[in-house]
Amino acid sequence: KRLVVAIDGPAGAGKSTVAQLAAKKLGYTYIDTGAMYRAVAWKVLQQQEVTDERILEVIRDIDVDLHYAEGRTTVTVDGEDVSAAIRTPEVSAVVSRVAALGPVRTKMVDLQRKMAKRGAVLMDGRDIATNVLPHADVKIFLTASIEERARRRWKEMKEKGYDIALETLKKDIAARDKADSEREISPLVQADDAVLLDTTGLSIDEVVARILNLCQ
Ligand code: C5P
Repeated sequence: KRLVVAIDGPAGAGKSTVAQLAAKKLGYTYIDTGAMYRAVAWKVLQQQEVTDERILEVIRDIDVDLHYAEGRTTVTVDGEDVSAAIRTPEVSAVVSRVAALGPVRTKMVDLQRKMAKRGAVLMDGRDIATNVLPHADVKIFLTASIEERARRRWKEMKEKGYDIALETLKKDIAARDKADSEREISPLVQADDAVLLDTTGLSIDEVVARILNLCQ
């Protein structure tokens, strides 16, 4: 069966890392919905000022596309490859504000549902099990302690050449989780029928193995 797998959870829980690996093992397509909101935020940041009006203007005619091939996700905005550009601290700082607006979510969710239509997909985000794909075959809520999530993000940023204090990252992650959990439209929350997977102290391989187990 071509399953539809939904993985949600807070920032830095390792969703994209493990979802990507699990998708590869299953031969499924991986859909990174956070990358789509980041792409919108990136385009908004090309303008001087970030206002709700600007965000609504951007969402009206933006063309966001995701390509997943050979274990790699490529994100394009109006045809331009922004896969690396959307991973900066600047984008992380405004993305939750962008993602809280109704017209932004309507357009992205519509795209996400189209992408999942044929099954054999593993989609990660914040509202996949609760809103985008409520009929998903497998629903997982992936989390880890804030300390561990900050450490993982620190390592990831370090590898990209950013030297950001652990405390700063911890604050950024906590602020993003707060914004994502408290917004009015499709807030971050564990679905009633999702399996809770706390990855604190687990290796990447262990987490992937548990996900594959849930997909059997
Ligand atoms: O997953 P990632 O951390 O890249 O997501 C970036 C941001 O995009 C989140 O903090 C959240 O504000 C937004 N997002 C969302 N709904 C999703 C995925 C991401 O609102 N399904």
